[in-house]
Amino acid sequence: LGSARELVSDRVGDRAGEWDRAGRLPLDLLRDLGSAGVLCAQVPVKDGGLGLSSKENGELTAHLGALCGSTRSVATSQGMAAWVITRLGSRRQRTAFLPRLTGGELAAVAFSEPEAGSDLAAMATEIRRDGDDVVVSGEKVWITVGAYADLVVVFGRFGDGAAAVVVPTAAAGVVVERVEDPLGCRAAGHATVRLDSVRVPADHLLGAAGQSLSLLVTSALTYGRVSIAWGCVGILRSCREAAASHARSRTQSGKPLAEHQLVAEHLAELLVAEQVATRMCEHASTCWDDGSPDLVIASVLAKHVAATNAARGAASAVQVLGSAGARDGHPVARAYRDAKLMEIIEGSNEICRLLLAGAA
Ligand code: FAD
Repeated sequence: LGSARELVSDRVGDRAGEWDRAGRLPLDLLRDLGSAGVLCAQVPVKDGGLGLSSKENGELTAHLGALCGSTRSVATSQGMAAWVITRLGSRRQRTAFLPRLTGGELAAVAFSEPEAGSDLAAMATEIRRDGDDVVVSGEKVWITVGAYADLVVVFGRFGDGAAAVVVPTAAAGVVVERVEDPLGCRAAGHATVRLDSVRVPADHLLGAAGQSLSLLVTSALTYGRVSIAWGCVGILRSCREAAASHARSRTQSGKPLAEHQLVAEHLAELLVAEQVATRMCEHASTCWDDGSPDLVIASVLAKHVAATNAARGAASAVQVLGSAGARDGHPVARAYRDAKLMEIIEGSNEICRLLLAGAA
């Protein structure tokens, strides 16, 4: 964990603002972090990964999330792709694909479609067998890392059930088109991925085909939710630090901002938001590491609490900084835009609440 953290500090450092404004991450950064295993750090050592626990990977994700929301988004997608391959793939598929993901290739995960957002049961992408191949047709939208990806794990209908298939973006019939000017995580390479009768070898189909769509999706999203939640802890850490440091160093009306009680209240709330989100994430990761049956709901809880706290916390941090934080390149301004999106993805606030209500 220590060397992975150091690599992230060294390669990402304070460059996120520059990448965010450019709307691009340097490809060599992603290849280097990828080949060091940092982007999917829970992949077992025997498959070429770092073999971190969920809790250790969470800490790494929070560190990355505090520095750069776009690079953290890449890690969430890559980790989710690796998890789907680990969970659904045969031994041969794990041996074929996982070393590619820990060797510098980049992967995206594609569920969403123009008519299937919160309601993934409306997914229309079709995966069908044709001799020794499978053929994939459909349109996936808002795919994080899509613009950088070598591989996309595509979910779709297969016969009466569903399946996930690994599609190389170099395959004939794949068209990738960037989403221009997203509100946040602007350098994460969001893209529309069109699949026009894309033909891949049948051994790219993960696991037994024709499974339950909701089970497939829940398994993948559970990793994604834990990862996003830890990323939100990172957002809260950086916002709390920026707000506290500014409030202690800037004086107005004869005393530091931090000594004005209404400003102090923001600082207290930021600390509470960060600590509560961290405990929720630790709980979800402990469930993951212990193989607890409570994991699915713990991941929803962690994602929901961490995302809402990050969105509120980032807004408070901008408030504490005033005009000093009101510029696009400032870390709190970036956090404000990035955090809002965390309330939409991997199960929006509303969808998380519906899932939590079901468990109440
Ligand atoms: P809609 O489903 O149309 O929802 C709009 C609003 O209505 C939301 O507030 C929602 O909560 C609410 N709503 C919808 N249904 C209900 C309901 N039943 N009850 C109550 N409220 C409801 N997708 C991928 O597959 N892969 C990715 O890598 C990926 N990355 C993304 C990154 C970003 C930055 C963004 C913005 C999106 C990404 N997505 C990705 C898509 C994302 O998963 C969807 O945006 C999300 O599932 C919501 O779907 P939607 O945008 O179509 O909104």
